Amino acid sequence: MRKLFRISIGLLLFVSSLTSHAALRVVTTTQDLSAITKAVGGEWVQVQSLTPGTRDPHFAAAKPSMIRKVFLADLLLVIGADMEIGWLPPLLQSARNSRVQPGNPGYLDLSSVVPLLGKVSDPVSRAMGDVHAKGNPHYWLDPRNGIRMAQAITTRLSGLDPAHKDDYRRRFNDFVQTMDNKLPAWRAELAQLKGKPVIAYHKSFVYLADAFGFRIVGEVEPKPGIAPSAASLSALVERIKTEHIDSLIMEPYYERRSASYLNEQTGIHVAVIPQSVGAQPDIHTYFDLFDAIVAALNKAGGK
Ligand SMILES: [Zn+2]
Repeated sequence: MRKLFRISIGLLLFVSSLTSHAALRVVTTTQDLSAITKAVGGEWVQVQSLTPGTRDPHFAAAKPSMIRKVFLADLLLVIGADMEIGWLPPLLQSARNSRVQPGNPGYLDLSSVVPLLGKVSDPVSRAMGDVHAKGNPHYWLDPRNGIRMAQAITTRLSGLDPAHKDDYRRRFNDFVQTMDNKLPAWRAELAQLKGKPVIAYHKSFVYLADAFGFRIVGEVEPKPGIAPSAASLSALVERIKTEHIDSLIMEPYYERRSASYLNEQTGIHVAVIPQSVGAQPDIHTYFDLFDAIVAALNKAGGK
């Protein structure tokens, strides 16, 4: 009887080890990171995002379901550069999962693998409400950074799960190949925007502008994370008129009143840009994201 008991316990452990090792449990702070991880991880990863692409990733409320995801994770991928500073640290603390604490192999901050734009050297800046004090964290909006992110994720998945490293490498190569095919087409479609001055709601499209050759000449927010005042909007009306700026681009989750006001005063065209995978129900992959962004930008340019 005792022997039978031991065998069944052994069998139970064996089966549970099989199921728990069937896939790496990857948790990401945004859906963009999830989409890239799925692209290179394929069937060897089980990926969940802590926030949906419909929401501003600077802000999130820590929910018990999020703590549970982090508790069970083998790997946690974050945007970094303070993007999640307001909500991830308490979540990491509550989840008590040493595998995914910063500094351990189960934690990967993707801001460390891309060239960050807009680093702020002025320490006063954060006190003034600037949510980009460590450099601009919206770097996934440059497709070239998508390659850097995919490469870093591939390397990390291969380290945690060396048995499938050839698969990860093959899928990464496919990802690069798809990008090589798509990027020139996107650039051609946006050729009419080249050199054009554009205003953004939040300082989040600098990487996109850099990748596609248009210029962000100002923001509706006087500082990242600070809502516009009546005075700052009036100043912007003057700039739009004198500098002949004809497009304003913004994420779907910001208030529309300011943009409507600027449109009424100047006739500026307002385009809502899906900034993340999941921002629209039809955006499932990182490539879908740029297909949708290019379509939205083309509307902004009046094509
Ligand atoms: Zn931001």
